[in-house]
Amino acid sequence: ATPTSIMVGTGRAAELGVLFRRGDALQALQGVDVVAFDKTGTLTIGAPVVVSNTLRTQDLAAVAGVEAASDHPLANAIVTLAGRHLPLATEVETIPGHGVQGVVEGRRIVIGNAAMMAWEGVTAQADVPAGQTPVMVAIDGKFAGTLGLSDAPKPTSKATVQAMKARGLEVVMVSGDTQEAAGALGDDLGIDHVIAGVLPDGKVDAVKELQTGGRKVAFVGDGINDAPALAVADVGIAMGTGTDVAVESADVVLVSGNPAGVAHAIEVSRRTLRNIW
Ligand code: ADP
Ligand code: MG
Repeated sequence: ATPTSIMVGTGRAAELGVLFRRGDALQALQGVDVVAFDKTGTLTIGAPVVVSNTLRTQDLAAVAGVEAASDHPLANAIVTLAGRHLPLATEVETIPGHGVQGVVEGRRIVIGNAAMMAWEGVTAQADVPAGQTPVMVAIDGKFAGTLGLSDAPKPTSKATVQAMKARGLEVVMVSGDTQEAAGALGDDLGIDHVIAGVLPDGKVDAVKELQTGGRKVAFVGDGINDAPALAVADVGIAMGTGTDVAVESADVVLVSGNPAGVAHAIEVSRRTLRNIW
């Protein structure tokens, strides 16, 4: 591409809310074979709501008391459901990618995924409808109930996935959520391959795996735990609405957090490389 073409391309991209932080990303993007998306906050709005609940009212209050100390999106949803006047939690400890625990009114409250329950030696029922993220609760070593949370996809997610596939790209979703919840969303959006149950520092490995055989991978994410994957990807694309660490690790920033920006970015890169402006 000529310098003029690159200038026009980055300018056109900026008009579409796509900021190129590194010039060579424009070049790298058009050679990409796979686009891997983070789920929460990238393909979904990132503001889950509680849609099912088998906890007793008093237990829900205790759970929300513990979650009040967590800034995880799931925690915000649970605190919102429980309302005001939450009991005070002490000894709160968050376990990234798994859950949170604490003590409320002398009772030990453990909240999170299946691994959390297994460590607690509790047999828990995760049976929430497909597409919901289960959050299970153990109190004093006994199963107390499950919350089901739902996070709506962004309005442009499906069309973006379709546009990527129409260009012959493989579309992948990488998530810390369960296979059931992430898989249901993946089916909705028409995503080729869903990698679920990924630990916070496991997204890098997922990207490296996708790079096998010299395939070029773009990774799109918004969270702190996406930063290493954004850095290791051939092109890292961060949601401008995401955390600063993610933005700083990325080559490209989608200003308004609109996934459609990925399609715009690829289109601009192809045009630029062919000097079609
Ligand atoms: P994601 O990649 O979907 O943002 P995380 O890696 O942050 O997910 O967390 C993975 C899983 O761990 C969640 O789906 C949830 O089951 C559990 N979890 C993590 N933090 C919390 C929390 N504060 N409260 C309840 N569950 C949690
Ligand atoms: Mg995210």
